[in-house]
Amino acid sequence: MKITSEFLDKHNVSGPRYTSYPPANFFHTNFTTSNYIEQLKTSNNQLPQSISLYIHIPFCPQRCHFCGCNTEIGQKKSFIERYIDAIKQEIINVSAFLDVENRKVTQIHWGGGTPNAIAMKYIADIMNLIKEKFIIDKNAEVAIECSPAYLEFTHIDQLAEMGFNRMSLGIQDFRSDVLAVVNRQAPKHPVKEVVDYLRTKGFSGINLDFIYGLPLQTVDSLKETIAKAIEIKPDRIVTFSYAHVPWVKEEQLKLEKIGLPTPKEKMDMLINNIEQLQEAGYTSIGIDHFAHPDDQLAIAYKNKKLHRNFQGYCTLETTGQVYGFGASSISQLWGAYAQNHKSSLKYMEAIENTGFAIERGFELNIKQQIVRSVINSIMCNGVLYFNEIAAQFQLTTNEIKDIVNYDSEKLIDFEKDAIISINENGILISELGHKIARNIAMVFDPDLKQGESIYSKTI
Ligand code: SF4
Repeated sequence: MKITSEFLDKHNVSGPRYTSYPPANFFHTNFTTSNYIEQLKTSNNQLPQSISLYIHIPFCPQRCHFCGCNTEIGQKKSFIERYIDAIKQEIINVSAFLDVENRKVTQIHWGGGTPNAIAMKYIADIMNLIKEKFIIDKNAEVAIECSPAYLEFTHIDQLAEMGFNRMSLGIQDFRSDVLAVVNRQAPKHPVKEVVDYLRTKGFSGINLDFIYGLPLQTVDSLKETIAKAIEIKPDRIVTFSYAHVPWVKEEQLKLEKIGLPTPKEKMDMLINNIEQLQEAGYTSIGIDHFAHPDDQLAIAYKNKKLHRNFQGYCTLETTGQVYGFGASSISQLWGAYAQNHKSSLKYMEAIENTGFAIERGFELNIKQQIVRSVINSIMCNGVLYFNEIAAQFQLTTNEIKDIVNYDSEKLIDFEKDAIISINENGILISELGHKIARNIAMVFDPDLKQGESIYSKTI
Protein backbone atom coordinates (compact mmCIF):
# COMPACT_ATOMS: atom_id res chain seq x y z
CA MET A 1 0.00 0.00 0.00
CA LYS A 2 1.35 3.41 -1.02
CA ILE A 3 1.71 6.17 1.53
CA THR A 4 -0.65 9.08 0.75
CA SER A 5 -1.39 12.46 2.27
CA GLU A 6 -4.92 11.22 3.12
CA PHE A 7 -3.40 8.37 5.14
CA LEU A 8 -1.01 10.68 6.99
CA ASP A 9 -3.70 13.32 7.58
CA LYS A 10 -6.06 10.74 9.05
CA HIS A 11 -3.49 9.60 11.61
CA ASN A 12 -1.91 12.97 12.41
CA VAL A 13 -3.05 13.38 16.03
CA SER A 14 -1.36 14.55 19.23
CA GLY A 15 0.60 11.87 21.04
CA PRO A 16 3.80 11.12 22.99
CA ARG A 17 7.00 10.42 21.04
CA TYR A 18 7.68 7.46 23.35
CA THR A 19 11.44 8.08 23.42
CA SER A 20 10.78 6.96 26.96
CA TYR A 21 7.84 5.39 28.72
CA PRO A 22 6.43 7.11 30.70
CA PRO A 23 7.22 10.25 28.66
CA ALA A 24 9.49 12.93 30.15
CA ASN A 25 6.53 15.13 31.17
CA PHE A 26 5.86 12.55 33.92
CA PHE A 27 9.27 13.23 35.55
CA HIS A 28 8.94 15.02 38.89
CA THR A 29 11.16 16.80 41.41
CA ASN A 30 10.37 14.41 44.28
CA PHE A 31 12.95 12.18 42.63
CA THR A 32 16.20 13.34 44.24
CA THR A 33 19.90 12.53 44.34
CA SER A 34 19.39 9.84 47.01
CA ASN A 35 16.82 8.10 44.75
CA TYR A 36 19.33 8.30 41.91
CA ILE A 37 22.14 6.79 43.99
CA GLU A 38 19.87 3.93 45.05
CA GLN A 39 18.93 3.35 41.41
CA LEU A 40 22.59 3.44 40.35
CA LYS A 41 23.36 0.64 42.81
CA THR A 42 20.28 -1.39 41.84
CA SER A 43 21.03 -1.00 38.13
CA ASN A 44 24.10 -3.23 38.58
CA ASN A 45 21.80 -6.22 39.10
CA GLN A 46 19.30 -5.41 36.38
CA LEU A 47 19.25 -6.01 32.65
CA PRO A 48 20.61 -4.99 30.27
CA GLN A 49 23.91 -5.54 32.01
CA SER A 50 25.93 -3.45 29.58
CA ILE A 51 26.56 0.26 30.07
CA SER A 52 25.74 3.13 27.71
CA LEU A 53 27.24 6.52 28.46
CA TYR A 54 25.77 9.80 27.24
CA ILE A 55 27.76 13.05 27.39
CA HIS A 56 25.89 16.31 26.77
CA ILE A 57 27.77 19.40 25.53
CA PRO A 58 25.25 22.27 25.60
CA PHE A 59 27.29 24.85 23.68
CA CYS A 60 27.01 26.19 20.13
CA PRO A 61 28.88 29.04 18.41
CA GLN A 62 25.59 30.51 17.11
CA ARG A 63 21.90 29.68 17.46
CA CYS A 64 19.98 28.22 14.53
CA HIS A 65 16.57 29.90 14.50
CA PHE A 66 14.80 26.52 14.31
CA CYS A 67 16.66 25.09 17.33
CA GLY A 68 14.62 23.17 19.90
CA CYS A 69 17.64 21.81 21.82
CA ASN A 70 19.08 22.62 25.20
CA THR A 71 22.08 24.72 24.22
CA GLU A 72 23.83 27.95 25.16
CA ILE A 73 25.62 30.40 22.86
CA GLY A 74 28.95 32.19 23.24
CA GLN A 75 30.19 30.75 26.55
CA LYS A 76 33.79 31.70 27.35
CA LYS A 77 36.75 29.30 27.50
CA SER A 78 36.90 29.48 31.34
CA PHE A 79 33.17 28.59 31.55
CA ILE A 80 33.60 25.62 29.18
CA GLU A 81 36.62 24.39 31.18
CA ARG A 82 34.58 24.56 34.38
CA TYR A 83 31.84 22.57 32.65
CA ILE A 84 34.32 19.89 31.47
CA ASP A 85 35.65 19.60 35.04
CA ALA A 86 32.08 19.15 36.30
CA ILE A 87 31.42 16.34 33.82
CA LYS A 88 34.65 14.61 34.86
CA GLN A 89 33.65 14.90 38.52
CA GLU A 90 30.21 13.50 37.74
CA ILE A 91 31.77 10.52 35.92
CA ILE A 92 33.99 9.83 38.95
CA ASN A 93 31.03 10.09 41.36
CA VAL A 94 28.62 7.94 39.34
CA SER A 95 31.14 5.25 38.42
CA ALA A 96 31.90 4.77 42.14
CA PHE A 97 28.44 3.16 42.51
CA LEU A 98 28.65 0.97 39.41
CA ASP A 99 30.00 -2.54 39.03
CA VAL A 100 32.63 -1.51 36.53
CA GLU A 101 34.51 -4.81 36.88
CA ASN A 102 31.71 -6.96 35.50
CA ARG A 103 29.76 -4.52 33.35
CA LYS A 104 31.24 -3.32 30.08
CA VAL A 105 30.55 -0.14 28.14
CA THR A 106 29.00 -1.04 24.77
CA GLN A 107 27.91 2.44 23.73
CA ILE A 108 29.15 6.01 24.20
CA HIS A 109 27.23 8.89 22.68
CA TRP A 110 28.21 12.57 22.61
CA GLY A 111 25.35 14.95 21.87
CA GLY A 112 24.51 18.61 22.19
CA GLY A 113 24.61 21.43 21.34
CA THR A 114 27.62 21.04 19.08
CA PRO A 115 30.15 18.71 20.74
CA ASN A 116 32.74 19.29 18.00
CA ALA A 117 32.69 23.06 18.55
CA ILE A 118 34.64 22.68 21.79
CA ALA A 119 38.40 22.04 21.67
CA MET A 120 39.33 18.44 20.91
CA LYS A 121 41.54 18.35 24.02
CA TYR A 122 38.42 18.57 26.23
CA ILE A 123 36.82 15.63 24.44
CA ALA A 124 40.08 13.67 24.80
CA ASP A 125 40.22 14.52 28.52
CA ILE A 126 36.77 13.06 29.15
CA MET A 127 37.40 10.03 26.93
CA ASN A 128 40.62 9.29 28.84
CA LEU A 129 38.75 9.41 32.13
CA ILE A 130 36.04 7.09 30.76
CA LYS A 131 38.73 4.60 29.70
CA GLU A 132 40.27 4.82 33.16
CA LYS A 133 36.99 4.24 35.01
CA PHE A 134 35.25 1.71 32.76
CA ILE A 135 36.02 -1.33 30.60
CA ILE A 136 35.09 -0.51 27.00
CA ASP A 137 33.87 -3.45 24.95
CA LYS A 138 35.95 -4.02 21.80
CA ASN A 139 32.78 -3.71 19.66
CA ALA A 140 31.48 -0.61 21.43
CA GLU A 141 29.76 2.06 19.34
CA VAL A 142 31.39 5.39 20.12
CA ALA A 143 29.38 8.15 18.47
CA ILE A 144 29.49 11.92 18.25
CA GLU A 145 27.05 14.44 16.80
CA CYS A 146 28.96 17.03 14.74
CA SER A 147 28.24 20.20 12.86
CA PRO A 148 30.10 20.09 9.51
CA ALA A 149 30.54 23.88 9.78
CA TYR A 150 33.29 23.39 12.37
CA LEU A 151 34.63 19.98 11.36
CA GLU A 152 38.20 19.72 10.06
CA PHE A 153 39.79 16.55 8.69
CA THR A 154 42.34 16.76 11.52
CA HIS A 155 39.44 16.59 14.01
CA ILE A 156 38.39 13.31 12.41
CA ASP A 157 41.94 12.01 12.88
CA GLN A 158 41.87 13.01 16.53
CA LEU A 159 38.40 11.58 17.16
CA ALA A 160 39.40 8.26 15.53
CA GLU A 161 42.48 8.23 17.74
CA MET A 162 40.25 8.63 20.82
CA GLY A 163 38.17 5.62 19.76
CA PHE A 164 35.18 7.26 18.02
CA ASN A 165 33.73 5.07 15.25
CA ARG A 166 30.30 6.62 14.55
CA MET A 167 29.42 10.14 13.47
CA SER A 168 26.20 11.99 12.84
CA LEU A 169 26.46 15.17 10.75
CA GLY A 170 23.78 17.85 11.04
CA ILE A 171 23.38 19.02 7.43
CA GLN A 172 19.72 20.22 7.58
CA ASP A 173 19.75 21.37 3.91
CA PHE A 174 22.34 21.67 1.13
CA ARG A 175 20.90 25.00 -0.03
CA SER A 176 23.03 27.86 1.25
CA ASP A 177 20.10 30.34 1.15
CA VAL A 178 18.03 28.06 3.42
CA LEU A 179 20.96 27.77 5.84
CA ALA A 180 21.47 31.55 5.75
CA VAL A 181 17.87 32.37 6.72
CA VAL A 182 17.92 29.88 9.60
CA ASN A 183 21.25 31.35 10.84
CA ARG A 184 23.30 28.21 10.27
CA GLN A 185 26.77 28.02 8.76
CA ALA A 186 27.36 25.88 5.69
CA PRO A 187 29.71 22.86 5.91
CA LYS A 188 33.38 23.84 5.96
CA HIS A 189 34.35 21.01 3.57
CA PRO A 190 32.33 19.12 0.94
CA VAL A 191 30.18 16.62 2.82
CA LYS A 192 31.03 13.83 0.37
CA GLU A 193 34.76 14.27 1.13
CA VAL A 194 34.04 14.25 4.87
CA VAL A 195 31.98 11.05 4.64
CA ASP A 196 34.60 9.34 2.46
CA TYR A 197 37.36 10.39 4.85
CA LEU A 198 35.39 9.10 7.86
CA ARG A 199 35.23 5.69 6.15
CA THR A 200 39.01 5.59 5.66
CA LYS A 201 39.32 6.23 9.40
CA GLY A 202 37.13 3.25 10.31
CA PHE A 203 33.85 5.08 10.96
CA SER A 204 30.63 3.25 10.07
CA GLY A 205 26.94 3.93 10.64
CA ILE A 206 27.63 7.44 9.28
CA ASN A 207 24.47 9.52 9.55
CA LEU A 208 23.29 12.71 7.83
CA ASP A 209 20.46 14.73 9.47
CA PHE A 210 18.07 16.92 7.48
CA ILE A 211 15.10 19.07 8.42
CA TYR A 212 12.05 19.64 6.26
CA GLY A 213 9.54 22.46 6.71
CA LEU A 214 12.05 25.36 6.85
CA PRO A 215 11.60 28.74 5.10
CA LEU A 216 12.52 28.81 1.37
CA GLN A 217 12.30 25.01 1.11
CA THR A 218 9.98 23.71 -1.59
CA VAL A 219 8.99 20.15 -2.42
CA ASP A 220 11.31 20.29 -5.46
CA SER A 221 14.24 21.88 -3.66
CA LEU A 222 14.05 19.26 -0.91
CA LYS A 223 13.99 16.55 -3.58
CA GLU A 224 17.29 17.92 -4.87
CA THR A 225 18.75 17.98 -1.36
CA ILE A 226 17.76 14.36 -0.71
CA ALA A 227 19.11 13.34 -4.15
CA LYS A 228 22.42 14.93 -3.19
CA ALA A 229 22.39 13.07 0.11
CA ILE A 230 21.80 9.77 -1.69
CA GLU A 231 24.79 10.46 -3.98
CA ILE A 232 27.00 10.80 -0.89
CA LYS A 233 25.93 7.28 0.20
CA PRO A 234 25.78 7.70 3.98
CA ASP A 235 24.77 4.63 6.00
CA ARG A 236 21.88 6.47 7.61
CA ILE A 237 19.70 9.46 6.77
CA VAL A 238 17.24 11.15 9.09
CA THR A 239 14.69 13.69 7.82
CA PHE A 240 13.25 15.51 10.83
CA SER A 241 10.05 17.48 10.61
CA TYR A 242 10.61 21.06 11.76
CA ALA A 243 8.54 21.55 14.93
CA HIS A 244 7.29 25.14 15.00
CA VAL A 245 6.66 26.03 18.66
CA PRO A 246 7.40 29.79 18.96
CA TRP A 247 5.51 29.94 22.28
CA VAL A 248 8.31 27.71 23.67
CA LYS A 249 11.20 28.88 21.46
CA GLU A 250 10.70 32.58 20.70
CA GLU A 251 13.59 32.62 18.22
CA GLN A 252 11.41 30.60 15.83
CA LEU A 253 9.22 33.69 15.24
CA LYS A 254 11.98 34.86 12.89
CA LEU A 255 11.20 31.91 10.62
CA GLU A 256 7.48 32.66 10.71
CA LYS A 257 8.25 36.19 9.46
CA ILE A 258 10.15 34.82 6.45
CA GLY A 259 7.34 32.36 5.69
CA LEU A 260 7.07 28.63 6.32
CA PRO A 261 5.90 25.90 3.90
CA THR A 262 2.19 25.08 4.25
CA PRO A 263 1.14 21.87 6.10
CA LYS A 264 0.22 20.38 2.70
CA GLU A 265 3.69 21.17 1.31
CA LYS A 266 5.27 19.65 4.42
CA MET A 267 3.23 16.48 4.01
CA ASP A 268 4.30 16.26 0.36
CA MET A 269 7.93 16.70 1.42
CA LEU A 270 7.58 13.82 3.88
CA ILE A 271 5.94 11.52 1.31
CA ASN A 272 8.63 12.39 -1.19
CA ASN A 273 11.43 11.74 1.33
CA ILE A 274 10.04 8.28 2.04
CA GLU A 275 9.55 7.38 -1.65
CA GLN A 276 12.87 8.82 -2.80
CA LEU A 277 14.91 7.09 -0.10
CA GLN A 278 13.11 3.77 -0.44
CA GLU A 279 13.64 3.87 -4.22
CA ALA A 280 17.35 4.44 -3.55
CA GLY A 281 17.35 1.19 -1.54
CA TYR A 282 17.27 2.60 1.99
CA THR A 283 15.24 0.73 4.61
CA SER A 284 12.63 2.99 6.15
CA ILE A 285 12.60 2.80 9.96
CA GLY A 286 9.71 4.59 11.64
CA ILE A 287 8.53 7.76 9.97
CA ASP A 288 11.79 9.62 9.41
CA HIS A 289 14.82 7.32 9.78
CA PHE A 290 16.40 5.49 6.84
CA ALA A 291 19.29 3.03 6.86
CA HIS A 292 21.29 1.34 4.12
CA PRO A 293 20.37 -2.39 4.09
CA ASP A 294 23.96 -3.30 5.13
CA ASP A 295 23.86 -0.94 8.09
CA GLN A 296 23.45 -2.42 11.58
CA LEU A 297 20.24 -0.49 12.19
CA ALA A 298 18.59 -1.92 9.06
CA ILE A 299 19.80 -5.43 9.99
CA ALA A 300 18.49 -5.07 13.55
CA TYR A 301 15.17 -3.79 12.19
CA LYS A 302 14.89 -6.82 9.90
CA ASN A 303 15.72 -9.19 12.78
CA LYS A 304 13.37 -7.37 15.18
CA LYS A 305 16.28 -6.41 17.42
CA LEU A 306 15.94 -2.66 17.18
CA HIS A 307 15.86 -0.51 20.29
CA ARG A 308 15.39 3.16 21.04
CA ASN A 309 16.53 5.60 23.69
CA PHE A 310 16.80 9.38 24.04
CA GLN A 311 19.77 9.29 21.66
CA GLY A 312 17.70 7.69 18.87
CA TYR A 313 17.41 4.23 17.35
CA CYS A 314 20.06 1.68 18.31
CA THR A 315 20.52 -2.08 18.36
CA LEU A 316 19.57 -4.26 21.32
CA GLU A 317 23.09 -5.76 21.27
CA THR A 318 24.90 -2.51 21.96
CA THR A 319 22.36 -0.64 24.07
CA GLY A 320 22.79 -0.84 27.78
CA GLN A 321 21.25 1.09 30.61
CA VAL A 322 22.09 4.72 29.84
CA TYR A 323 24.03 6.86 32.34
CA GLY A 324 23.82 10.53 31.35
CA PHE A 325 26.42 13.21 32.16
CA GLY A 326 26.18 16.96 31.74
CA ALA A 327 23.42 19.56 31.87
CA SER A 328 19.92 18.27 30.97
CA SER A 329 21.20 14.73 30.31
CA ILE A 330 18.82 11.89 31.13
CA SER A 331 19.90 8.56 32.61
CA GLN A 332 17.66 5.74 31.40
CA LEU A 333 18.05 2.87 33.85
CA TRP A 334 15.89 -0.23 34.04
CA GLY A 335 14.13 1.04 37.15
CA ALA A 336 14.17 4.81 36.71
CA TYR A 337 14.83 7.91 34.66
CA ALA A 338 16.92 10.71 36.15
CA GLN A 339 17.49 14.12 34.57
CA ASN A 340 20.13 16.70 35.44
CA HIS A 341 19.56 20.45 35.72
CA LYS A 342 19.06 22.05 32.30
CA SER A 343 21.06 25.22 32.87
CA SER A 344 24.78 24.51 32.66
CA LEU A 345 25.51 27.00 35.47
CA LYS A 346 23.05 25.26 37.81
CA TYR A 347 24.45 21.91 36.74
CA MET A 348 28.05 22.96 37.53
CA GLU A 349 27.12 24.49 40.89
CA ALA A 350 25.23 21.36 41.90
CA ILE A 351 28.13 19.08 40.95
CA GLU A 352 30.65 21.33 42.70
CA ASN A 353 28.56 21.56 45.88
CA THR A 354 27.01 18.09 46.16
CA GLY A 355 28.66 15.85 43.54
CA PHE A 356 25.36 15.25 41.70
CA ALA A 357 22.98 17.45 39.70
CA ILE A 358 19.64 15.61 39.60
CA GLU A 359 16.68 17.95 39.00
CA ARG A 360 13.87 15.45 38.42
CA GLY A 361 13.21 11.85 37.56
CA PHE A 362 10.80 8.95 37.71
CA GLU A 363 10.89 5.48 39.27
CA LEU A 364 9.03 2.82 37.29
CA ASN A 365 6.95 0.19 39.04
CA ILE A 366 6.62 -3.31 37.53
CA LYS A 367 3.44 -2.41 35.64
CA GLN A 368 5.14 0.58 34.04
CA GLN A 369 8.13 -1.58 33.11
CA ILE A 370 5.73 -3.96 31.36
CA VAL A 371 3.97 -1.17 29.46
CA ARG A 372 7.39 0.16 28.45
CA SER A 373 8.36 -3.26 27.01
CA VAL A 374 5.06 -3.43 25.09
CA ILE A 375 5.45 0.08 23.68
CA ASN A 376 9.13 -0.45 22.78
CA SER A 377 8.25 -3.64 20.91
CA ILE A 378 5.61 -1.78 18.87
CA MET A 379 7.68 1.35 18.28
CA CYS A 380 10.94 -0.36 17.33
CA ASN A 381 10.08 -3.71 15.84
CA GLY A 382 6.46 -3.51 14.73
CA VAL A 383 5.31 -6.59 16.64
CA LEU A 384 3.67 -7.36 19.91
CA TYR A 385 3.83 -10.97 21.11
CA PHE A 386 2.05 -11.13 24.45
CA ASN A 387 3.64 -14.51 25.24
CA GLU A 388 7.16 -13.06 24.89
CA ILE A 389 6.41 -10.15 27.20
CA ALA A 390 4.68 -12.55 29.63
CA ALA A 391 7.77 -14.82 29.69
CA GLN A 392 10.06 -11.84 30.27
CA PHE A 393 8.08 -10.82 33.37
CA GLN A 394 7.04 -14.35 34.46
CA LEU A 395 3.34 -13.55 34.15
CA THR A 396 0.49 -14.95 32.04
CA THR A 397 -0.53 -13.36 28.74
CA ASN A 398 -3.88 -12.41 30.29
CA GLU A 399 -2.14 -10.58 33.10
CA ILE A 400 -0.10 -8.63 30.53
CA LYS A 401 -3.26 -7.79 28.56
CA ASP A 402 -4.94 -6.51 31.74
CA ILE A 403 -1.98 -4.27 32.56
CA VAL A 404 -2.07 -2.55 29.14
CA ASN A 405 -5.90 -2.41 29.13
CA TYR A 406 -5.91 -4.51 25.97
CA ASP A 407 -9.11 -4.14 23.99
CA SER A 408 -9.08 -5.45 20.41
CA GLU A 409 -12.06 -3.17 19.62
CA LYS A 410 -9.69 -0.20 19.86
CA LEU A 411 -7.60 -1.73 17.07
CA ILE A 412 -10.40 -2.47 14.62
CA ASP A 413 -9.84 0.66 12.52
CA PHE A 414 -6.13 -0.15 12.19
CA GLU A 415 -7.03 -3.71 11.17
CA LYS A 416 -9.56 -2.53 8.57
CA ASP A 417 -6.94 -0.24 7.02
CA ALA A 418 -4.45 -3.18 6.86
CA ILE A 419 -2.15 -1.35 9.25
CA ILE A 420 -2.04 -4.29 11.64
CA SER A 421 -3.04 -7.95 11.69
CA ILE A 422 -4.20 -9.54 14.93
CA ASN A 423 -3.82 -13.20 15.88
CA GLU A 424 -3.96 -15.16 19.14
CA ASN A 425 -0.29 -14.35 19.93
CA GLY A 426 -0.55 -10.62 19.47
CA ILE A 427 -0.31 -8.10 16.67
CA LEU A 428 1.89 -7.65 13.63
CA ILE A 429 2.28 -4.14 12.17
CA SER A 430 2.47 -3.74 8.38
CA GLU A 431 5.21 -1.71 6.68
CA LEU A 432 2.75 1.15 6.28
CA GLY A 433 1.75 0.80 9.93
CA HIS A 434 5.37 1.42 10.99
CA LYS A 435 4.89 5.02 9.86
CA ILE A 436 2.23 5.52 12.52
CA ALA A 437 3.69 3.30 15.24
CA ARG A 438 3.15 6.10 17.78
CA ASN A 439 -0.60 5.97 17.16
CA ILE A 440 -0.66 2.18 17.67
CA ALA A 441 1.48 2.42 20.82
CA MET A 442 -1.00 4.95 22.27
CA VAL A 443 -3.68 2.23 22.37
CA PHE A 444 -1.49 0.29 24.84
CA ASP A 445 -0.71 3.26 27.09
CA PRO A 446 -2.99 3.06 30.15
CA ASP A 447 -1.84 6.47 31.42
CA LEU A 448 -2.71 8.38 28.26
CA LYS A 449 -5.78 10.53 28.69
CA GLN A 450 -8.28 10.66 25.83
CA GLY A 451 -7.82 13.73 23.64
CA GLU A 452 -4.70 14.85 25.52
CA SER A 453 -3.16 17.63 23.42
CA ILE A 454 -0.01 18.48 25.36
CA TYR A 455 2.00 16.40 22.91
CA SER A 456 3.24 17.14 19.40
CA LYS A 457 1.51 15.67 16.34
CA THR A 458 2.43 12.05 15.61
CA ILE A 459 3.41 12.86 12.00
S1 SF4 B 1 23.65 23.46 16.07
FE1 SF4 B 1 21.97 22.22 16.84
S2 SF4 B 1 21.95 22.59 19.04
FE2 SF4 B 1 23.20 24.22 18.11
S3 SF4 B 1 21.78 25.91 17.78
FE3 SF4 B 1 21.83 24.72 15.87
S4 SF4 B 1 20.15 23.26 16.10
FE4 SF4 B 1 20.57 24.08 18.13
